[in-house]
Amino acid sequence: MNPVTDQSASAATGQPVAGPAWDLSGEYPAIGSAEFAADLAAVKGAISSLEAAGRSLAVHVENAAELDPIADAGTVAELARTMDRVDETSATLRNLSVYVNCVLSTNGSDAEAAATRGYLSSLRAALGAAEAPLALVLKLCPEPFFAAFCSLPGMPRFRFALAQERKARARALPLPAERAIATMSADGLHAWGGLYDAITGTLRCRALGPDGAESTVGLAQAASLLKRPERRVRESAWRGINAALSEHRHSLAAILNSISGWRGAEGGLRSHTEPGHYLDESLRQNRLSRATLEAMMGVIRESRELGRRALRAQAGLYGVERLGPWDILAPAPADDGAAPSGIPFERGLETVRRAYASVHPSMGDFVGRMAASRRVEGRVEGGKRPGAYCTEFPKSRSQFVYTTYQGALSELSTLAHELGHAYHCEAMRDIPLAESEYPMALAETASTFAETVLGEMLASEASDDAERLELAWADAQDAATFLVNIPARFEFESRFYERRPSGPVGPDELRSVMRDAWAEWYGDALSEYDEWYWASKLHFHKTVVSFYNYPYSFGYLFSLGVYARRQELGDGFHDAYVALLRDTGRMEVEELAARHLGVDLTQPDFWRASVAIVEKKVERFEDLARRAAE
Ligand SMILES: [Zn+2]
Repeated sequence: MNPVTDQSASAATGQPVAGPAWDLSGEYPAIGSAEFAADLAAVKGAISSLEAAGRSLAVHVENAAELDPIADAGTVAELARTMDRVDETSATLRNLSVYVNCVLSTNGSDAEAAATRGYLSSLRAALGAAEAPLALVLKLCPEPFFAAFCSLPGMPRFRFALAQERKARARALPLPAERAIATMSADGLHAWGGLYDAITGTLRCRALGPDGAESTVGLAQAASLLKRPERRVRESAWRGINAALSEHRHSLAAILNSISGWRGAEGGLRSHTEPGHYLDESLRQNRLSRATLEAMMGVIRESRELGRRALRAQAGLYGVERLGPWDILAPAPADDGAAPSGIPFERGLETVRRAYASVHPSMGDFVGRMAASRRVEGRVEGGKRPGAYCTEFPKSRSQFVYTTYQGALSELSTLAHELGHAYHCEAMRDIPLAESEYPMALAETASTFAETVLGEMLASEASDDAERLELAWADAQDAATFLVNIPARFEFESRFYERRPSGPVGPDELRSVMRDAWAEWYGDALSEYDEWYWASKLHFHKTVVSFYNYPYSFGYLFSLGVYARRQELGDGFHDAYVALLRDTGRMEVEELAARHLGVDLTQPDFWRASVAIVEKKVERFEDLARRAAE
C-alpha cells in the first residue's frame, strides 16, 4: 500500500486530516493591539514628514537633468535621507497590510480587518504621492548624479531597482502630468477593473450541481464546478457562465476596450522621445528582453503539438474523442467511486518535507521549522477564503503559508508549491528588501521547482498505476496549460492590442479574435473553442499589469531548466540553487540565467531543453493512459 494515500492509517492513528492554525501572534497580537497602533502611528507620522520632503524635492524635478553631484551635494544627501525614510515606511506599511490580509483570509467577515485594509490602502496611495518627486528626480537625473547618490552609505541597495526605473526615463512626463495620471487612474483605469469585479461578483449562473439538480449560483461557485469530476456538471457550468457573461457582453467589452485604450493613450503621451510598444511595460516589469520572449514563444509554438497530445490522452481517459473547453481544468477521472484522498495533514507535510530533504537536508529542515514554528495554516473552516498563498512580513522576514487543507493528493503539491515561495524568501532573508523583490517571471521558480521535486518523488514511490496516472494527469494538465492555453491568451491579447488603436473592438469581434487564437493553439484537440474567454478570465481585466499570461509559461519552463541542473550538478546543486534564488531580486533575468545556469535565454536551446522534459512527462502520461485503456 502506498504510504501517502493509505487512508486506513488515519483511522488507525486518529490523526485529523485538516491542518492546524497558524500562529501570527509573533507579528502582532491583534489589529487593535498597542503594537499594531504604534506601527500605524509611525507610518502616519512618516507620511506627513515625507509629504513635506516631497514638496521640497519637487522643485528639483523640473531641472533634474541638470543636477550636478558636486554643486548639488546637498540635494544628493536630502534624496538619500528621504529614500531611507520611504523604504522604512513602506516596509512598516506592508507589514501592517500583510497582517490584516492574513486575518481576513482566515475570517472573511472580520469587519475591523476589512475597514483597516481600506484605511491602509489609502495610506499607500498617500505614500505613493509623497514619494513621487523623489522617484522622478532619481529617474531623470544624469548618470554622475545618480552614481553619487548610489555611493552614499546605505544607498547601494537601491541601485539595481532604480537603474531599472531609469531605463524607462525617456517615457517620463513632467511632474504635473505624472500626478494627473496617478490621480485620475483611481477613477479611470483602475475603476474599469473595479467594474469588472462588480459585474462578475454579482453574476448569477444556471448550472447543474454535483447532485444533478440545476440551480442558480455565483460565478466563483460556477467556476469551481469546472473542476468537478462529473463531465456533465462541468459542461453545464461552462455554458451557464458564458450565458451569464453574454448578457453583459457590451459592458465587458467596454471594460476591456477602456483598459487597453487608457494604456494606449498613456503610452502615446509617453512616446514623446522614442516610439513605444504595447509589450514594453510588461517586459520591463518582468525584467525580460523582447529577444527572450520571442525565443521562448518560438519554441512553445513549435512544441504546441505536445500540449495537444496531452489533451488527446486526457480525452481518451474520459472516453471521449475530444475534450470540450469545459474539460481543461478537469481532475483525473475517478475510478469507480473509490474515495481517494484523506491524507492527514501531518503525513502530507512529512511527505513534502522528505521531498525537500531529497534535494538537500537543509531544505527538509526548513519545512520542519515552518511547521514547528506554526507558520503553516491548514484549517478547514467556514469563514476562510479560498486559495493558497505564501506571504512574508517585511519586519521579521518570516514567511507564512496559507492553505485550506482537505487531504487530497493535489493539496500536497499546493503545500510544496507555497513552501517553495517561502524557501525563496528564506534564501534572501539577509538581503535588503530593496534587492529582494523579484519579477513575476521569476516568482514561480522555487514553487514550481518544489512541485516538480515532489511529483517526481511520488511517481517513483507510487505502488500502482492508478496513483501514477493521477500524478501524471497533473503533468499533462500543466503541459496543456503552459504550452497551449497560456500562449492562446498571449495571442489573443497581442492581436487585441494591435487592433485596438483603430477603434473600439465590439463583443462579436472579441469573440472572433479569441476563437482564432484558440484555433491557432488548440487546433483539433478540442471539440469547440471558448469564445467568451476574454470575458471570463480575470487576468485580461487586471489594471495593474498587462499581459498577465506569458510569465506563467516562462516560470514553468524556467523552473524545469533549473530542475534539469539538479541531475547535472548532483551534490553541488543546492548551493548553486540558493545562489540563483538570492540574485532574483537584483539581476535582469538574462543575466541571472547566464550567471547561474550558464545559458542564453535569447536562444532557443534552453527552451528546447525544458520542452524535452515536458515531452518525457507527456509520454509517460500517454503510456499510462494506454495501459489504463487495456
Ligand atoms: Zn505560486
